[in-house]
Amino acid sequence: MTSRVVILGGGVAGLAAAMRLGQLRPGTSITIVEREAVAGGLARAWAVNEFTADLGPHRVYTELPEIERLLPDLIARDQMVTVTRRSQLLLGGHFFDYPVRAGELLGQLGPVNMAGFALSALAGKARAAIRTPHNFEEAMSDAFGARAYGLLVGPYARKVWKTEPRHLSVEVARVRVSAGGAAQMIRRLVGRAHAEKRRPTALREFAYIRGGVSRLVESLLGRACQAGARLITGASVEAIEGTATGVSAIVIRDASGRAERLPADSVISTIPVTDLAAALEPLALDPTAQAAARSLTYLGMMLVALVVRRPQVTPNTWLYFPEEHLVFNRAYEPRNFDPGMAPSDRTMAVFEVTARWDSDLWSSPDSDIASRVTTDACSTGLLREAEIEAAHVLRLRHAYPLYTTDFRAHLDAVCRGLEQFANLISTGRQGLFNHNNMDHSMLMGIRAAECLVNAAQGNESAAARWRANLGQFAHFRIVD
Ligand SMILES: Cc1cc2nc3c(=O)[nH]c(=O)nc-3n(C[C@H](O)[C@H](O)[C@H](O)COP(=O)(O)OP(=O)(O)OC[C@H]3O[C@@H](n4cnc5c(N)ncnc54)[C@H](O)[C@@H]3O)c2cc1C
Repeated sequence: MTSRVVILGGGVAGLAAAMRLGQLRPGTSITIVEREAVAGGLARAWAVNEFTADLGPHRVYTELPEIERLLPDLIARDQMVTVTRRSQLLLGGHFFDYPVRAGELLGQLGPVNMAGFALSALAGKARAAIRTPHNFEEAMSDAFGARAYGLLVGPYARKVWKTEPRHLSVEVARVRVSAGGAAQMIRRLVGRAHAEKRRPTALREFAYIRGGVSRLVESLLGRACQAGARLITGASVEAIEGTATGVSAIVIRDASGRAERLPADSVISTIPVTDLAAALEPLALDPTAQAAARSLTYLGMMLVALVVRRPQVTPNTWLYFPEEHLVFNRAYEPRNFDPGMAPSDRTMAVFEVTARWDSDLWSSPDSDIASRVTTDACSTGLLREAEIEAAHVLRLRHAYPLYTTDFRAHLDAVCRGLEQFANLISTGRQGLFNHNNMDHSMLMGIRAAECLVNAAQGNESAAARWRANLGQFAHFRIVD
């Protein structure tokens, strides 16, 4: 039963699902519904006058063989640039190169402090041998020592996730420790950097798409349309029709208020699983799953772009700000990834501010956020207020799934509940509450399409088949 398939969400997961489905089942009616004016989701472009930015610079990197084979078909080699990573971290008024060089750190902290860090790391290692960590705080202080944890890892995690690290899952460490980042610095501090060298890493240089990640999305969308898919943009999923065992139609509404009913034999959803669960409540989604979905939290992010009257603020790809008195966590200039993304005489510095939806920060007006970021940016010495020409704010409501200590149990309960709708699959970063990268989401979309087709061939429930295979996405990790 795959003759009419509706795909909810036009990010890379939804587009990859549409492409694969069209390839496997030519002639299938495939409709992608996207709320924004353009496809791409988190991988879309942000155009600010003559500037273009990704919503957080998107490096292209994969360890997934299938996506490695697909990427050259989507983006020609001459459309890619190799960018040398050059990052700094502001701590105690000093910009450290990042990852931090041991010599620089020694100069700043002194040998006595360094010895203290090394001893604390040894104690952490001893603790790690006798206990299984229950949360991020335990995992990281065991891995790197309580002192290094207290100096950097803990405060930065609290700041980024807006959550006490003891309430964060160890899975935050699993996904991001391999990314290097703050942990990489600490490894260097305690002399474990040799382990990093053996691991495939994009740490020193990485691939970036000329003009930004939206080029990849355009290409993926082209493939999906070639395979027969149609994209409806600017329309939001308003309701899902069906019974307690399956979905029969999707009701969408555009910005002008016009509603449309899309009959569906099957549905692949890549929208936030919490929104999907809410839309399924009228179809008698299991109450346990409803409650579990309400316990999952996404973290919002505000991007604040400051247009500056000078060609470059710093030559860095990323600047990290772990200290809590600064409102932003990280900043970047698109021109440092591809000079073509900015005019030659000015630059745009984009600051990332994470926030919980129920916080004062999130409910502040854009003008307040912009002025707070401006003040804090100037306080670091990077900028002067007089050279800032304009400030622009863009909000991402579902920037990150928040991995609290109990998230896995809630997610499992939601997935179990969704299985009652035999012709519905929830996938992608939002649909499986998966802190991932684009390559992972593309694979998740591809696998969802294959699951739908295979289930139809075997006359099975696609949802049951999908749930039985969810483990394949558990090993994903983000490599910086
Ligand atoms: C700051 C940041 C930096 C990143 N850097 C990198 C990087 O360097 N490299 C990398 O590979 N990945 C990176 N990522 C991750 C990458 O962006 C995501 O993994 C990927 O884009 C997720 O794709 P998706 O399709 O699964 O989800 P999304 O992109 O979130 O797509 C979901 C889509 O559903 C739509 N939608 C939601 N609700 C509705 C509704 N009710 N009706 C209709 N449509 C709806 C949304 O508008 C969206 O388009 C980064 C992410 C962030 C936040």
